[in-house]
Amino acid sequence: MPGFELIDHLERDAVSSIFEEGGVLFAHGFDALRKTYRVRDFEQQCSKYFMSDYALALSSGTAAIKCALKAVGVVPGDEVITQGFNFVATAEAIIDCGAIPVICDVNPDLHLDISDCISKITTRTSAIILVNMLGFPGPLEELRSCLSSIDLSIPIIEDACESVGAYVGSRHSGTCADIGVLSFDHGKNLTCGEGGLILTNSKNYRDYIASYSDHGHKLDSSVPRGRDIALMPGFNYRMTEMQAAVGSVQLSKLKRLISLHRERYSILERDLATKFSIRSVSHPSHIPSYDTFMLLDLPLELIERILSVLARHRLSSKNIPDAMYWHCSAFWSHALASAAINQSQSTLEKLSHSVAIPIMASLSADTYISLASSLLDI
Ligand SMILES: *Cc1c(COP(=O)(O)O)cnc(C)c1O
Repeated sequence: MPGFELIDHLERDAVSSIFEEGGVLFAHGFDALRKTYRVRDFEQQCSKYFMSDYALALSSGTAAIKCALKAVGVVPGDEVITQGFNFVATAEAIIDCGAIPVICDVNPDLHLDISDCISKITTRTSAIILVNMLGFPGPLEELRSCLSSIDLSIPIIEDACESVGAYVGSRHSGTCADIGVLSFDHGKNLTCGEGGLILTNSKNYRDYIASYSDHGHKLDSSVPRGRDIALMPGFNYRMTEMQAAVGSVQLSKLKRLISLHRERYSILERDLATKFSIRSVSHPSHIPSYDTFMLLDLPLELIERILSVLARHRLSSKNIPDAMYWHCSAFWSHALASAAINQSQSTLEKLSHSVAIPIMASLSADTYISLASSLLDI
């Protein structure tokens, strides 16, 4: 996952250059003082790179999910379906909209379980958040065709926070739903410390979120910002110029990061596929970002031995099991009603037999060769 592994003087120089070009740290206005608009530039670069009509940079992925939910019309009392293998941010964003998180199961490869998702739809369901966990795009096309085959047009939000740099055929992960959301926090493939991105081809969604994330501003460029009227009560989910400067450099490194991941991932896949069940893509056209290698269906007594091999190689087990609390909705009783906790139990069962091995660009390929041979020996 971590884009921070490739951070060098280029990110530092990009931030320094802001101070040499007027020192405006804010995305909007101060036109007389500045030569550059980093957030605006970053959005254009992202729109081009990810091949999405619109890209909108925000303060975090969590903020972006909330903005996406509001844009598709989620209002208090609505239900929003999302999956049990997830990150708590989706549930928080749903709750922050006054809506109710409904949890569906994941399939044996830990992708959203379509039939369970469909079975959870009610007249109050106003959005579905499909989450691409640990670098693997989820079954979005399949979900969409299932919905249309039963004549439902529920908006789908693609949480691609963990799949930045992955592909669905020739399209970028994050560009296949009504709205896609990326995260640029410090653990993600592209990082600027904190940050999020909305990808959409809908001008309406783009315009709504641009306003909502900026106190409801109409964003009429023909008037000074102080005279610009408000369209709605919004909030402040803006990205700063410093985040955008770092983000632009990180974007230029994304392809290299993914190819370093892929080289290391392939070693584990080649050496371990005969001994272990490994996670599969949800469709043959999907190309993950290869930042996590997952072992599935493990007997419990084997898991402890795998974890000690990982520790000997100075590796954690990343989200599963190390950060299971944050990534399995069965543990979110602080946020979810008991119905949603019950809905999470079969996901918990699957995750309890899984281990996530982090793929680190900064570790040598030899480390992964050695790791694979130790895992074959246990
Ligand atoms: C990181 C993450 C988020 C939230 O992103 P932040 O930028 O940290 O707010 C949302 N969903 C998933 C699946 C994530 O991994």
